[in-house]
Amino acid sequence: MLDRFNREIYYLRISVTDRCNLRCTYCMPEAGIKLKSHQEILSFEEIEELVKTAVRLGFYKFRLTGGEPLVRRGIVQLVQKIAQINGVKTLAMTTNGLLLDKYAKELKAAGLSRLNISLDSLKPDRYKEITRGGDLNQVLAGIKAAGEAGFTKTKLNVVIIDGFNEDEKENLKEFAADNNMKVRFIKKMDLKSGDYYGVEGGDGGNCSICNRLRVTADGKIRSCLFSDDEINLRQEGFEAGLKKAIANKPKKGHKSLKREMIQIGG
Ligand code: SAM
Ligand code: SF4
Repeated sequence: MLDRFNREIYYLRISVTDRCNLRCTYCMPEAGIKLKSHQEILSFEEIEELVKTAVRLGFYKFRLTGGEPLVRRGIVQLVQKIAQINGVKTLAMTTNGLLLDKYAKELKAAGLSRLNISLDSLKPDRYKEITRGGDLNQVLAGIKAAGEAGFTKTKLNVVIIDGFNEDEKENLKEFAADNNMKVRFIKKMDLKSGDYYGVEGGDGGNCSICNRLRVTADGKIRSCLFSDDEINLRQEGFEAGLKKAIANKPKKGHKSLKREMIQIGG
């Protein structure tokens, strides 16, 4: 569907959980966030229904995100169900990679099209610092497992933080090339102050060609990362909610004060 500014909206990012096995400094506050209850989180049946409805409205690209999507119990079954829906051309996932060692093969078999794996440093200490405790070796094993499972066109998402990891850009490019991945450098954004940037190696961050909506784990549609306006899918109904979100999508966002990045899914 076209929005008011003639942008075709065909890409839906769905956060399947607000939980995560890391606590990246740029994504969530040190004290954590208030987690939603099981009842508040969209069920698998609701997510499937949402995707079917979105397909009818012209959406064909879907991405599962989080929190960390791989910590949601039954995630492989969800992937399988969505991948089978007629009209879903691409079903991608953004993950921190920690659990790919365990799930890559099953995800491939379930029909997941592509992966984006997030990794900001190849230095174990830095990785531990930025993720508040993560083990670099686990991600490296996950990346290897993704390749072995047959995933291609995998992207490496790198958040660049001034004064912290710019010096690793060349190494990360090389690492990505060695592992048949494309690297995307994303300058650290700040939802609250409204700092956002274009993505080097990707099309995010360019409002004039924005093609997406986001659904939070608790079933709120956000038509812009940098706006607090939300539509409650359960209250509005899936079709009316999606249509309203497209109709209300702003030309450009400003800031978002109500949620942390982890509660939106990036
Ligand atoms: N847990 C998964 C992961 O880390 O890939 C998926 C969710 S995470 C919120 C999605 C993407 O958003 C990741 O690539 C992450 O690096 C990025 N991200 C999180 N906070 C960000 C920020 N403040 N600025 C730019 N990118 C950010
Ligand atoms: Fe978790 Fe991903 Fe946010 Fe890091 S960026 S805290 S891995 S959701």
